[in-house]
Amino acid sequence: MTTYREFHRRSIEQREAFWAEEAQRIHWHKPFARVLDYARPPFAKWFVGGETNLCHNALDRHLDARGEQAALVWISTEVDGRQTFTYRQLHAEVNRAAAMMRSLGVKRGDRVIIYMPMIPEACFAILACARIGAIHSVVFGGFAAASLAARIDDAKPSLMITADGGSRMGKPVLYKALVDESLKLAQHPPRKVLIFRRGLDANMPVVAGRDVDWKELAAQHQGASVPCAWLESNEPSYILYTSGTTGKPKGVQRDVGGYAVALASSMDRIFCGLPGETMFTTSDIGWVVGHSYIIYGPLLAGMTTIMYEGVPVRPDAGVWWKIVQDYKVSVMFSAPTAVRVLKKHDVAFLRKYDLSTLKHLFLAGEPLDEPTHRWVSDSLGRPVIDHYWQTETGWPLLSAHPGVEKTPLKMGSPSFPVYGYDVRLLHESTGKPVADGEKGVVTIAPPLPPGCMTTVWGDDERFVKTYFTDFKDQLVYSTFDWGIRDRDGYYFILGRTDDVINVAGHRLGTREIEEAVNMHPGIAECAVVGVADQLKGQLPMAFAVVKDPAAVASKEARMKLEGEVMQTVDKQLGAIGRPGRVFFVTLLPKTRSGKVLRRSIQALAEKRDPGDLTTIEDPGALEQIREALK
Ligand code: ATP
Ligand code: MG
Repeated sequence: MTTYREFHRRSIEQREAFWAEEAQRIHWHKPFARVLDYARPPFAKWFVGGETNLCHNALDRHLDARGEQAALVWISTEVDGRQTFTYRQLHAEVNRAAAMMRSLGVKRGDRVIIYMPMIPEACFAILACARIGAIHSVVFGGFAAASLAARIDDAKPSLMITADGGSRMGKPVLYKALVDESLKLAQHPPRKVLIFRRGLDANMPVVAGRDVDWKELAAQHQGASVPCAWLESNEPSYILYTSGTTGKPKGVQRDVGGYAVALASSMDRIFCGLPGETMFTTSDIGWVVGHSYIIYGPLLAGMTTIMYEGVPVRPDAGVWWKIVQDYKVSVMFSAPTAVRVLKKHDVAFLRKYDLSTLKHLFLAGEPLDEPTHRWVSDSLGRPVIDHYWQTETGWPLLSAHPGVEKTPLKMGSPSFPVYGYDVRLLHESTGKPVADGEKGVVTIAPPLPPGCMTTVWGDDERFVKTYFTDFKDQLVYSTFDWGIRDRDGYYFILGRTDDVINVAGHRLGTREIEEAVNMHPGIAECAVVGVADQLKGQLPMAFAVVKDPAAVASKEARMKLEGEVMQTVDKQLGAIGRPGRVFFVTLLPKTRSGKVLRRSIQALAEKRDPGDLTTIEDPGALEQIREALK
């Protein structure tokens, strides 16, 4: 591990020299005067005075060498669509979209809210914003009208871009109708709404004077050419509201230069994506993973990126792996939640296709428990890399770095701190660094590296207060995640700090118990929450999804399995972690990004209100929890 260690050490000890070198990966229209300005902690300004443009680096820069190479491949198993855009074609589409936006009065620094399904036009719109220096704010298509309205009022956009509809599991989802509803609620509605009609809503209402048809406007800007706006490195590139697992959404603001450098660097050092190769990231453009690794990262690297509209198991659980085979995918990025879905299907679907081009499958978004990590590695026969980050960081914070050194992987661990991040595990009350093997809060000693959030949109004070005041007397960024480092330096994320379960004075991460429950071969996934208990303070309760529903068909079968699961936990973790009850359900309440809503489950178990549920994937899941608790 010496190569990685030395690399990481240099990124912290010789921060400026290190990042000055990495910055050479992108094109600077005007070179930066200073690598880092940290005069006003914790606000870090990277590559001060430098001028660049994300769209130029993602597209224009590649035209000579790879103009005819595929840049964007769109695959929809929802509407049975497929389209390929070469770098030259994508460049033309983005220029046209930029011209369209300018004709609607969008200027540099204006906000544009993009509320769109996974269609190529969403990618055009994002890159067109970057091209003209407009600040995009993509809102995930699953958000309800009130959530969208709150984001509109915070961002105050001059334009919104949407589509008539999307599709989920073959059923149309109306986007434009929801936008109309949100605009009735909003205090700061945009002047114009640009709509791409897919033919998914025949009765789509049109507001005269405000609504503009994408295709009609596009016809007027055929062949348009719009120069890139050269932006100072620290100008905002986008706002992205956090997914909302924990409270009121925050507008994460990102810069231009630092983000471009961090992504370009990560494509090489972490993801091992080479120009001309293909990357398949299964996320959504509404999430940070979609921003960084469907759109910007792979294009900055000169790769082909795959944009997929659909679910992992339709038409069958082999659909993603066939894409890997057919498009010779070399880098794939998905989430543990998707793997857990696949786990409920026949493993033959994962083994059916030739995956030999796939160098790694990267997973992030939730703790990847050891049994699931092992299952997916074995099933695919390819290395699976767990890595950890947040909307706030924009790129990985903990990861293996196969582009630096191929360190051995440990199942269930996102390996090591990523270069540029001075990661510290701190004791939650004393704020002192914990020893190896002791649990602590995952923090970063500032300055945050390039690519991370620069502030909360419009609210510097909230940025400092939210992230940098968790520990008295020291300025550190708190991830609000709970972790542990083993003697070999590998990190393990144990869950969110506010999900920690306190059993008779012992602090247990939800993940530790969940992992133990998952060790039972009959369990596909589970959620564990701490429920108030007079005797022990808190008692863990488990809600588990079984692989085979027949296993819990009768009361006797349920009791037998419950006992077995408890025994499994005893064996893995000790009786201290044994859940007071194990309830069986067929699905868990999750956000649309696949994160378990532990807080809501806990609230139900303690007979409280489950809170804000606008991003819940399937309300039926909470109903099951209610039923189980009866
Ligand atoms: P909000 O901040 O709005 O409540 P969120 O935290 O769910 O929402 P994201 O930024 O998408 O929004 O998620 C980041 C969080 O996801 C991390 O802080 C961590 O809790 C979890 N996470 C991400 N990757 C991993 C991983 N590899 N292992 C464990 N946890 C992870
Ligand atoms: Mg968060």
